[in-house]
Amino acid sequence: MTDTSTATRILLDSRPVGWPTPENFRIEEVALPELEAGQVRVRNEFLSVDPYMRGRMSDARSYVAPYALGAQITGGAIGRVVASRVDGMPEGSVVLHQHGWSDVVQGDAATFRIVPDIPGLPLSVRLHVLGMTGMTAYVGLTRIAALREGETVFISGAAGAVGTAAGQIARHLGAGRVIGSAGTPEKVALLTQKYGYDAGFDYHDGDVRELLAQAAPEGIDVFFDNVGGDHLQAALASFRDGGRAALCGAISSYNTTDRAAGPDNMANLITRGLTLRGFTLGDHLDLSAEFQQRMTGWFEDGGIVYDETIVDGIENTVQAFLDMMRGGNIGKMLVRI
Ligand code: NDP
Repeated sequence: MTDTSTATRILLDSRPVGWPTPENFRIEEVALPELEAGQVRVRNEFLSVDPYMRGRMSDARSYVAPYALGAQITGGAIGRVVASRVDGMPEGSVVLHQHGWSDVVQGDAATFRIVPDIPGLPLSVRLHVLGMTGMTAYVGLTRIAALREGETVFISGAAGAVGTAAGQIARHLGAGRVIGSAGTPEKVALLTQKYGYDAGFDYHDGDVRELLAQAAPEGIDVFFDNVGGDHLQAALASFRDGGRAALCGAISSYNTTDRAAGPDNMANLITRGLTLRGFTLGDHLDLSAEFQQRMTGWFEDGGIVYDETIVDGIENTVQAFLDMMRGGNIGKMLVRI
């Protein structure tokens, strides 16, 4: 039995400017206090490293508060209860929570949510395809972009956690043609071979506007954007009349210190009657039950696949985060404890 009286955790030590470095973080081991009534102690099995965390490392206004300096990095994680002082959350329960980058966490039971084991699937899927990133893809395509059957969809960041889910969901929703962009030839090959995309391109291979025009000669109806910058500009050039974009992320600018230049073709919004709509998942949690029901159904029909890029050890969490930000992942980047 692993000792859970201490926790090894990652703290933010200084605020990164531009690309974070390992020096912006600190790892420490702490003795955990006695468990109080109403609390549980959880040994994490998987930690999530996510692009939005980069925003929280800066002291800037956003939809979630910045991480405090000297405080532990919080975020999605899943593990098992190893000690409990609350009814209804016994030892052995699998729980999802936001306590983040630590091998052992404890707190009020209300901050943990029991999730049923899914036979044949690892717990980690609750952190991506059947969790936050899968639901982000679902919300973006259904509520935000209102994808209709037969339409042509372009998804940027297509080989990552959100993107691999988005391609498959678009297919299930009846998209006519699904196009994705990613950062390596290996990722592009996976898009069409595994993830239901009809076409893909490596955005390093030339001007994104031209690459998209070649992949979608008749234009696009829906754009699901994880990248921003040159990808958004390319989509604006390719949109057919009445096109809609779900602006999910803009990772191309998360680590830049320059002010990102805007697209030079915003006038297409007017002349083509386009709609660009940004969203964050937290504002759409009313769709949780619908998402779980439909996604689980597609899963059970064998209609959903996923990849995980797994890094072992709490001590490698920062490196996993940095590798993910640089494209070192296929599908979801996770830390296994
Ligand atoms: P991913 O698994 O997609 O990992 C990030 C990927 O971004 C990398 O693998 C890399 O892939 C790509 N990338 C990095 N830099 C660039 C660049 N300059 N240009 C193009 N691609 C780049 O992460 P997630 O699936 O977790 O997140 C994807 C996006 O969705 C992010 O923008 C994130 O902020 C956003 N998001 C938004 C949510 C919301 O509620 N709105 C919720 C969850 C995520 P490659 O090799 O292809 O370059």
